[in-house]
Amino acid sequence: MAKTLARKKSTAKPAQAKKLAQPKKTAAAAKGAGKYVYLFGKKTDGNGTMKPLLGGKGANLAEMCRISLPVPPGFTITTEVCTYYYANKRTYPPVLRGQMDAGVASIEQQTGKTFGDLKNPLLVSVRSGARDSMPGMMDTILNLGLNDQTVEALARKTGNPRFAWDCYRRFVQMYGDVVLGVQKRPDEDHEPFETVIEQLKHERHHQAVEDTRLSVDDLKELVKRFKALIKERAGKQFPDNPWDQLMGAVGAVFGSWMNDRAIVYRRKYNIPTEWGTAVNVQAMVYGNTGDQSGSGVAFTRNPANGVKEFYGEFLINAQGEDVVAGVRTPEPVAELKKQMPKAYAELERIRQTLEKHFKDVQDFEFTIEDGVVYMLQTRNGKRTAMAALKFSMDMYKEKLIDWKTAVLRNPADQLEQLLAPVFDASEVAKAKAIATGLPAGPGAASGQIYLNADRAVTAAEKGQKVLLVRIETSPEDLRGMIAAEGILTARGGVSSHAALVARQMGKVCVCGAAAIEVDYQGRTVKVDKQTFKEGDWMSIDGTAGKVYAGQVKTAPSEIVAGLIHDDEAAKKTEKFKHFQQLMKWCSDASRMVVRTNADTPEQTANAVAFGAVGIGLTRTEHMFFEGDRIDAMREMILAETVEERKAALAKLLPYQREDFAGIFRALKGYPATIRFLDPPLHEFLPHTKEQQAELSKKIGVPAARIHQRVEQLHEFNPMLGFRGCRLGIGYPEISEMQARAVFEAAAQVQKEGIKVRPEIMIPLVAFKKELDLQIEVVHAAARAVQAEQKVKLNYMVGTMIEIPRGALTADEIAQSAEFFSFGTNDLTQTGLGMSRDDSGSFLPHYEELEIVKKNPFATIDASGVGQLVDIAVTKGRATRKDIKLGICGEHGGDPASIHFFEKVKLDYVSCSPYRVPVARLAAAQAALLAKAGD
Ligand code: PEP
Ligand code: MG
Repeated sequence: MAKTLARKKSTAKPAQAKKLAQPKKTAAAAKGAGKYVYLFGKKTDGNGTMKPLLGGKGANLAEMCRISLPVPPGFTITTEVCTYYYANKRTYPPVLRGQMDAGVASIEQQTGKTFGDLKNPLLVSVRSGARDSMPGMMDTILNLGLNDQTVEALARKTGNPRFAWDCYRRFVQMYGDVVLGVQKRPDEDHEPFETVIEQLKHERHHQAVEDTRLSVDDLKELVKRFKALIKERAGKQFPDNPWDQLMGAVGAVFGSWMNDRAIVYRRKYNIPTEWGTAVNVQAMVYGNTGDQSGSGVAFTRNPANGVKEFYGEFLINAQGEDVVAGVRTPEPVAELKKQMPKAYAELERIRQTLEKHFKDVQDFEFTIEDGVVYMLQTRNGKRTAMAALKFSMDMYKEKLIDWKTAVLRNPADQLEQLLAPVFDASEVAKAKAIATGLPAGPGAASGQIYLNADRAVTAAEKGQKVLLVRIETSPEDLRGMIAAEGILTARGGVSSHAALVARQMGKVCVCGAAAIEVDYQGRTVKVDKQTFKEGDWMSIDGTAGKVYAGQVKTAPSEIVAGLIHDDEAAKKTEKFKHFQQLMKWCSDASRMVVRTNADTPEQTANAVAFGAVGIGLTRTEHMFFEGDRIDAMREMILAETVEERKAALAKLLPYQREDFAGIFRALKGYPATIRFLDPPLHEFLPHTKEQQAELSKKIGVPAARIHQRVEQLHEFNPMLGFRGCRLGIGYPEISEMQARAVFEAAAQVQKEGIKVRPEIMIPLVAFKKELDLQIEVVHAAARAVQAEQKVKLNYMVGTMIEIPRGALTADEIAQSAEFFSFGTNDLTQTGLGMSRDDSGSFLPHYEELEIVKKNPFATIDASGVGQLVDIAVTKGRATRKDIKLGICGEHGGDPASIHFFEKVKLDYVSCSPYRVPVARLAAAQAALLAKAGD
């Protein structure tokens, strides 16, 4: 891609800088002799701060025990075992089994049940639990401990054979799938266990009945058929011995850390592989014993829009997996108030306790067994940017958190969601609403529908806007969800996989739109008597839960409307006011300021409205592409003599002057860093015969001559060729014209009474002498204009630091430069010797192999390129104490990189206008964390 057009907006959404340190691997642990099992229950070994070791789930189970919430007893096997497991050919530390024995004994003692007992058998769940939650990415096994004998014991003990066999059926199914690997083959449409269930339902009931209508006999038959299926597919007998079951399940959880879903998820959210997962083994409680039992998932506040309300859903007579799998559509948690008022009151008490204790919105899982509530998990709830903003402001008002915490609670990489468009109200009024679902991920999205993740990805790669439509989503759909503008599902509640993942990614999502009929085979969606084929347009409003036919026009969000369009109604909205409060706190907290990369007065004005306090980079070459300026530019390049060149430049000067004047006015006194011409000249020339002929007619230069000059300017390696300050050194008259345009514009605007602070920036400097030669030209032009215009102008001259030699000799360069701006795009390109325009062919593979952790053109390579920045900062300041230091590469709008720039103490970051709020938030967070000694 041509350099001048290569201003790709960074699309990477790096996770916030990970705060938690790696667990310290003790020498004992490395040898396999440490403490690997942590109890929770009456005796609790761990606590909420131990997430690196116990995983998020384990640490919070321990913490909930410590605050006396009703948690079934259990133990956590640490992440160190996962590390050991992979470092030692998938084996366990020798002492582990003994510690697990003690763990099981402790559960037995607290529950009065015994593992494998024929009178009162203890059943356990086995769940993964990484340091950061990875919803739906890892595998879970419930009801472990059942076999043909213990199931009868459970039936006798509970007096409920149906329940016992339902548990057994579920266990064999999950174990067969997760541990023994009996899964859907590419030639199958359904999961093999589900196919067996469907067959049996048809044989015995002649129709599809709800699972709850299966009889004990049906369930017994299912267990038999499941075991046969396992034998056939896995070539293994289903294990009867509970300890064999347990060790197999633990191995499967550790094994799932390396499954495809988990790897894709980790890559997207920058979770290091080394973290590993913990395993939680916990006494089962049963949500499927009858209609006074159930399972649910709830949030202490609404995670989609932030409203303070008890939000969640439950299923009567069901185990937890039924709720999150989205197979049956659950009921809102408020319904429990009518159905089980006591349990509801207890849950309400728990909701309050959780918020008071964790001081953040919690997402928790509960089970009600015969009217008694148990807590199975709690974690900080994933939230949309909108909800995060409201939570933070409300909790500050409620005095749960202080303002600094409120700032830290807003994920910088999600903030752009708040600026995303919403549907234009008048267009929505005209649009045809075809279905309603649950508003699971706010925002507005229009796209061409695709019913399968792979096809959605392919279409998106071709540049289409895509809506992924599924009956329900599963973790296998993750790639498609990433590629889509929005997600629409026919089934599943607000805590279904689709809703959860969409919320986290900031995708627009409507789920559980029951009126849509999705036909995977026919690749159609039928709704409201219409049939939509793949590729047809639909629109979804994830704030209202509405689905529309066709493409609906969007309008700016309230924040953009208020700030950029000065819309008074928008300014009165809560969202706008909250946003402004957050931005004010960001200014209070930050050490660095935020500037913008802008080339037009409009972009500049937008950025200033978003809080930019100056321009960090104006790429002057962008101005040459507008209207017929390009012709004058081409004339200049084709000129054979200095006189000819000067004549062409004289045509360009008024354009540039006007542009600069507009920018100075829009800046209202803030400084503007204006960079002189940078890209290789051939980028401006016509390359096809037709274009050359057309230009020849326009400027009266023979086509053959144009062709010859284009050939002459061809370079094998243009990015390392005749570009940057080399142009201004080769043709000083170009820099002279640009300097004159800047100063004439400055004089003009200053006379209008507006303060003007130009900072002229010379690109691609490697040698001090290069800069000196250009500075002379600039000063001469400044002297001339000041004399002609009888004004005194305040200006600075500095340089970009964007090639390694410039960084390494920054002490010399700083003798002449009054400021440095790090061009981290080129510094990455030259520092890594990796073309910024061609790296697409191998970088994704590098990321897969974790040769690079993140795309270095999106997030600064701190240990390599970052060192160059660090050296230049130190050397620059050693020569010139007050040298102004900033960054204007794409990394200036990337939160993780901004944390790095805070560490090396730059004065400002500069980024595209719509990234300015993101950068302000990231800069504030970086400063707060730096102060807190992070
Ligand atoms: C850079 O190299 O980082 C930079 C800002 O300049 P450009 O992208 O125009 O090369
Ligand atoms: Mg550059």
